[in-house]
Amino acid sequence: MPLEILTIPCLTDNYAYIAHDGDTGETLVVDVPEAAPVMTALAQRGWTLSHVFLTHHHADHVDGLDLLLKTHPAKVIGAAADAHRLAALDLAVREGDYISIGSYRGEIMDVSGHTLGHIALHFPEAKAAFTADSLMALGCGRLFEGSPQLMFESLTKLAALPAQTWIYSGHEYTASNLKFALSIEPENARLISRGEKITVARQADRPTVPELLSEELATNPFLRSHTTEVRKAVGMEHAEDWQVFAKIRTLKDGF
Ligand code: ZN
Ligand code: FE
Repeated sequence: MPLEILTIPCLTDNYAYIAHDGDTGETLVVDVPEAAPVMTALAQRGWTLSHVFLTHHHADHVDGLDLLLKTHPAKVIGAAADAHRLAALDLAVREGDYISIGSYRGEIMDVSGHTLGHIALHFPEAKAAFTADSLMALGCGRLFEGSPQLMFESLTKLAALPAQTWIYSGHEYTASNLKFALSIEPENARLISRGEKITVARQADRPTVPELLSEELATNPFLRSHTTEVRKAVGMEHAEDWQVFAKIRTLKDGF
């Protein structure tokens, strides 16, 4: 059976995700911004939680954990690098480790930059990657702890996943990311048509996630610092890719 994945809107603009393996019943939640919407979704499906995966330590990704665990005991997985500032972990992981949900193997990637110790979870067979505040729809997380170079390395790793991978990111920031992306590449036809779909989705209050990596590669300015278009837009035709990325991140911070 396919790995079934639900998108769970939480708080004002966060997403949690629930991944369920129908063969074994194993059920994973990725991040717990708040407990209630996750518990409601589990109850509606009749699924029993078995695993929690925490991408990073920020409150808007972990604040619902204690309440959720009170009624839904589960194995908590988080970054070894973040163990000192996360709730007690049952499994502390690092890049190259993997976890299993039924027969699905989820590979841990270190995608630090937004924070140090931010991890992503990639299920190659399910064509799904949970990226939270690293790679986001048309954007990337702000650099609170890592350097631009580190975030650029993390995004480069994610960009190298198979292009048909669905990217499940942590926030609904897409409409504002779209405005910024269009300011960099106003003539990018793929971006313009993606923008039309985003506007329709948001008017109907539908999530704009997940999105295919192939679409991010064609439209997300933070993955496009190697392209002539983006380099010209910021007047950095001869800089290193990471320097162009750093410039775009700075521009977005002030946008
Ligand atoms: Zn965060
Ligand atoms: Fe966040």
